Amino acid sequence: MSSANNSKSDGLSDEEQLKRFILHVSHSGMGVDVQLDELLRQLRAGLKKNESIEELKSKVDAITSYLRVLEEKVETLKEESAPDAKQLIENFLESLLQEELQRNVKSKLNKLLSKAPHMDETELIQATSNLLGEHLTPKKGGRWSNLFGGGNNEEQDDDAEEDNAPIVQTMAVSSSLQDSLRRFIEQLSVIEAYKDATEHIRKQVELLANYDELVPIIEDIASALLEAANQEHIQFESFLKVLNKRLLHVASYLNQAAVGHKDLTQDTVLLDKELKEQVTFIQREISTATEIGPLKQRVAASFETIFASIERFRMAQDTRVEASLAELDIVKEQLQVTEDEAVRLKENLIEQRFRAHTDPLTQMPNRYAYNERLTQEYSRWRRYRGALSLAVGDLDFFKKINDVHGHSAGDEVLRKVAEIIREGVRESDFAARFGGEEFILLMPETGLVDATKAINKLRLLINRQPIVVADGESINVSMSFGVSEFENSDTAQDVFNRADKALYRAKEKGRNQVCCERA
Ligand code: GH3
Ligand code: MG
Ligand code: MG
Repeated sequence: MSSANNSKSDGLSDEEQLKRFILHVSHSGMGVDVQLDELLRQLRAGLKKNESIEELKSKVDAITSYLRVLEEKVETLKEESAPDAKQLIENFLESLLQEELQRNVKSKLNKLLSKAPHMDETELIQATSNLLGEHLTPKKGGRWSNLFGGGNNEEQDDDAEEDNAPIVQTMAVSSSLQDSLRRFIEQLSVIEAYKDATEHIRKQVELLANYDELVPIIEDIASALLEAANQEHIQFESFLKVLNKRLLHVASYLNQAAVGHKDLTQDTVLLDKELKEQVTFIQREISTATEIGPLKQRVAASFETIFASIERFRMAQDTRVEASLAELDIVKEQLQVTEDEAVRLKENLIEQRFRAHTDPLTQMPNRYAYNERLTQEYSRWRRYRGALSLAVGDLDFFKKINDVHGHSAGDEVLRKVAEIIREGVRESDFAARFGGEEFILLMPETGLVDATKAINKLRLLINRQPIVVADGESINVSMSFGVSEFENSDTAQDVFNRADKALYRAKEKGRNQVCCERA
């Protein structure tokens, strides 16, 4: 048995290892559910009281079956509350196909639809938003011809026929598209999680007249859907699965240990019985012996039997210890695998979260991230009433930059401006790309006067730094801003509207300036 002890690298006995294992598992489940907490607490109390393996096993079994109940609960929760957002998007894409679209856009839509069944909700939302965003962004001269109109303009050609190109930017949205958007929003709004978001989108859809107003709506829809796709129960469900798996390993190990324990007891009883029989036999032989020769032989034979019994017992013991160590190794390995899975799951969630919150072009937080942050800052402001300001900024004559230098130069400018904004604001400020060439900033603990000063500095930074684009040319850009501050019974929308109005004034007054709501 000494070999068994030596093989334990960390010097802990099986029981100690098992205890550590159970403790580890029981801690990782805390805080998920009140009843689960209680069951885990009981398991730890059992460990503390040195309860037998059978007692511990029954506690683990109770937890495992409760986890199954929880899992079912999550499943039904998902069925009840989670809309089939995927189906809704697919319906929407199909209705979009009824529109008069370019052939290449149609084929991309078809391709996306055919891949949809293999995508998860988040992927489909991202892909839809990317596809629509890509084609709804007008190319040079503000043409929307890359998505709508005709079927003869398959190649996207930025430079060709620019002058003759019909100005379709102001093309009216077809009533069928508006209907399908309306239906889509209607279906979404039934779901509790989307209620607020859809209210806002619904108004926009009602006001929707031209195709160029579709982009912000699509962005809003994507951000509302992403919000739901990231709902907590998805993470919770995955977590439960990992925890359940771990507990099953513990249960199987406990099972094994309980069986081993029973074998050991049986073997000991058997050995004891055999030894007693042999000793009784020897005593009887001695008391009835008349000749020493045969007696010696019988006693020797009896000792042989005793040694054989002990040897058999020892061997059975060793095998059992080895088997139990091997089993423990397997459990440890499985634990490692589930740990790795949990880590991967967590990394996945982080990655997914990052993707959902980040604008791919500028790597800045996107509108969805902004909405999330706004909710936090707004409720903090309502509670503590510190200062909170908001600024919206819009690049001046950006369309011209696209026209003169090309769309990818425009993209480069957006990236560079995002960088200047990121570096030019305080750490506690939050800046996001709101859409197109518009940016938005939340400035906690900053009143209107200080916010206006800070934004003016940012404006100067942007204006004084010529941006060199791929063709080596250097572009001077400027940006106009509107600033407002949260006050009294303001809703977030009130404050946004005031900043937007101020921005409009800044544009009217000649651009490259900051206006605040009171100025
Ligand atoms: P103003 O000073 O009035 O804001 O003029 P503007 O030209 O900036 O006005 P407008 O808002 O009409 O034009 C914005 C342009 O930004 C239209 C669109 O083509 C372009 N745009 C939006 N998103 C992107 C993008 O991701 N990349 C590029 N290159 N251009 C974009
Ligand atoms: Mg704009
Ligand atoms: Mg602009």
